[in-house]
Amino acid sequence: MEKVALLDGEPTWVFPPESATPEVVAALAFSGARLREIAKSLGGRAGWTGSGLEYWQSASGKWKITGGAENPQVTFFVELCPPGFYECVEIWTVHAEIAVRCDHMVDCGMHRIESRHAYPRTGAACVDSLDELTAWLLTRHQEVPPATWRSRDRMAAEV
Ligand SMILES: [Zn+2]
Repeated sequence: MEKVALLDGEPTWVFPPESATPEVVAALAFSGARLREIAKSLGGRAGWTGSGLEYWQSASGKWKITGGAENPQVTFFVELCPPGFYECVEIWTVHAEIAVRCDHMVDCGMHRIESRHAYPRTGAACVDSLDELTAWLLTRHQEVPPATWRSRDRMAAEV
């Protein structure tokens, strides 16, 4: 599973050639910058590559775009998948979520606190959705102090 920083990758890995326009590339860079802004404010990490948004290749060779910003208290995450990335999902999907690390005795992964989903008709429309959802993540980060996300976790272990 390969991860490639946004600026080192090729938009045509994810988008059809006619959708891989300079406008799309610029909008992706803008969304990536938002995630880096959240990460900087958190004092944390901006995705695996540090670029905010990155290309991510599955074991079967398919590409999607993921991104994130996190510190030990909270994780902000986005994902843009072309049709066919997941088996039997033949539509474009864009997903954003805010999550905290599981605090159960047996770690179940992440606990999702808030999320949003979009199912755009085209690749170019996906980039607009990614723009909206990264703006939403940045707004929520500005509204909610990072240390208080855990207190919103309805799946939290009983203390
Ligand atoms: Zn858990």
